[in-house]
This record gives sequence, structure tokens and C-alpha cells, in this order.
Amino acid sequence: MLHSKKPNRVVIKIGSSSLTSLHGEVSRKKLEKLVDQVVALKDEGMEVVLVSSGAVAAGYRKLGFIERPSSLPEKQAAASIGQGLLMESYSELFLSHGYVASQILITRTDFSNENRYYNMSNTINVLLERGIIPIVNENDTVTVDRLKFGDNDTLSAKVAALINADQLMILSDIDGLYTDNPSTNPDAKMLEHVTEITESIEAAAGDSGSAVGTGGMKSKIDAVKISMASGISTFLGKADIPDILIDAVNGNAHGTYFENKPESANLDRKRQWIAFNSGPEGKIIIHKKAKEALLEGSKSLYSGDVKEVKGKFENGAVVKIGDDSGEEIGVGVVNYSTEQLQEGTDGKKKAIIDREAFVCYFDFCIPASL
Ligand code: ADP
Repeated sequence: MLHSKKPNRVVIKIGSSSLTSLHGEVSRKKLEKLVDQVVALKDEGMEVVLVSSGAVAAGYRKLGFIERPSSLPEKQAAASIGQGLLMESYSELFLSHGYVASQILITRTDFSNENRYYNMSNTINVLLERGIIPIVNENDTVTVDRLKFGDNDTLSAKVAALINADQLMILSDIDGLYTDNPSTNPDAKMLEHVTEITESIEAAAGDSGSAVGTGGMKSKIDAVKISMASGISTFLGKADIPDILIDAVNGNAHGTYFENKPESANLDRKRQWIAFNSGPEGKIIIHKKAKEALLEGSKSLYSGDVKEVKGKFENGAVVKIGDDSGEEIGVGVVNYSTEQLQEGTDGKKKAIIDREAFVCYFDFCIPASL
């Protein structure tokens, strides 16, 4: 048992493969089972955010397809029908238990825009405080391929970090993380406790085994990296095991528990945004000595520390910081534009990145592209 304290605020992510029937349509029975468990958590006084896929699955038949379509516009059109139908089912089911559900559709750019980011967090907080169950999904109908989360795994981890959840629960068609892809390697073993995402775990995490699933284990590991670094513990388990969510919050479910890094929970909202959501626009290469000082945490980054500036950015942009060996050190909000940096600083010592606006990768080990 990993959790000394029962979580109070949880984010639950359920994948398409766990909500659909064999034919790829949304299964009412599976929705009902999920809702029953969420209701049990709500009855215990917990705050729950549901991140639910299934919009395409709920809509493609009404669009006139007999199979799930594969092109992006067709999937988006199906989602436009399905999103409403899916919400209708959730609302109806939750209302029958006395709970109100709300819909939140998010795109990747909502996270990279600082104002929208804070706004989202404020909105979700109001909903949770008032006992509502926010149901989050990627806004499939507008998102262009290049900017898609592509799966709801990383979306769920970002939402969990955004609202300072205590636990993220990812429900899938597999009962946990294995040492290798279990659909191709019968000798793969399930891991019950993971304290660190090692290179071998990354290598073992493969693609989805099903036609409906999208991210596979790879995107789940990406999600876990975000939640771990945000001080949130994560549980990964199989959606169709009875009472899996109830057991998961009690710390005794069959599945994989990923421990959080409690020290990372101190990351304030601003630094969380810089680290995980901003999408860096350029890169500043710094001298070796400057790197050491920066890592010690004792000072800001000054004009004399800069060796090279890559990319084009305005002041206030988030940029990556690397050293001349190619290693990336962290990300920070830059006080000058590319032009200003290239013009030089007239010999004056200027703070290029303030200490408070820098987040070091070594504490978190998260690539900023996530
Ligand atoms: P969901 O629709 O729930 O998001 P996916 O189908 O996208 O689920 O991802 C889960 C699948 O990932 C598993 O069914 C399995 O086939 C595959 N997979 C690849 N590598 C691993 C691994 N190391 N451990 C467990 N599952 C893995």
C-alpha cells in the first residue's frame, strides 16, 4: 500500500478501448459501470474530474459509417456528433445518482497560453468546489493533427497537475505496466510499484495493441512523467476489473502504482506552466561555468553567460537553456528578444532569465515538449 492518506482530489482517465464494444461503438454498460464507481467516490466526499475519450466512437455510425473512420476530417465530424451524445449519456447517468456533470473541451494551445491555463484552473476549481463532475476531452473537432494531444493520457496528467490533484488514475485495457509489450511478449511481467521512469521502462513501453486505442503504453509513460514530476501519484489499471477505482484510492488495487516525487509538489502554478505547458520557442546556449551556477540555484542567468542564441523569440517567451555539449538544462522566461540579445548589452550586466523564472530539468527530468 503506497498511500498513507486517501486522495481527496482525483483525475480519472478512461481510454476509448475501455468504453467501446467489440464493434467500436460506445458501450452503455461500460459507461454505467464507470459512472457507478465515480458515484461511489463522490459519495465518499471526493472531488473527481473525468477525462473521457469516446467521442468518435459515439458518433461515427450516425455520420453514416459502419466502421470507425480513419481520416482526420471524418473523425472530427464523427466527434462533433459523438461528443454531444457522450455528454448526454454521462449527464443522464450522473443525474440519476443526484450528481451534475459538466463538459470541458480542451486543446493543446489552451495549455500553452498562460492566461487560458490559469482560467481553466479557476473554472475547474469552481466546478469541483460546487460538487460538479467535470468531464474533460480534447476538442477533437477543431484540433489540427500537428497540435493534438493525440490521446488523452498526457491531457489527463496536465489536467491533474493544473488542479493539484492528489491522484491520477488511468484506466486501460491492460492491467498495468509490463516489462515488455504483453501483446507481443508472453514472458513480460507486470510491475506493481514504479518509483522512477528508467530508460528500460521507456524502451518497454510500446504502441497500442488495439484498433481503437491510440497512445499505447508510450503515451501513458509520458503522462506519468508529468504527474510524477508534479507531485501526483498515478495508478494504472484495467477498466473492467470490478471496483478498480475504489480499490485504487485505497491503495490496494491490482495494477501499477507510480510514486510521486513529493518535493516536486512545491512547484507553484507559474513554474508548473513554464515547465510543462509553455512550449519553448527558442534556445539559449550558455557557458559551462554559468551552468554550474544556475544549477546551484544561486543566481539568475546574465548576459555574459550566453554563448549562443538559437531560434527567434520575443521578450517574455519561454526558451530552453542548454550547454555547449548539447545537454538541455532547463527552461525559463527570457527578458529579452532574440534581436536584443544579438545586439549585445553594451558591456552592461543584464539578467537574461531571472532565477524565479527558470525551471531546471534535473529536478524533474521532463522534456519540455510534453
Ligand atoms: P487506452 O485505449 O486505454 O488508452 P491503449 O490501447 O492505447 O489503451 O494502450 C494500452 C496497450 O498498450 C496495451 O493493451 C498493450 O497492448 C500496449 N502496451 C505496449 N507496451 C506495453 C507495456 N510495456 N506494458 C503494458 N502494455 C503495453
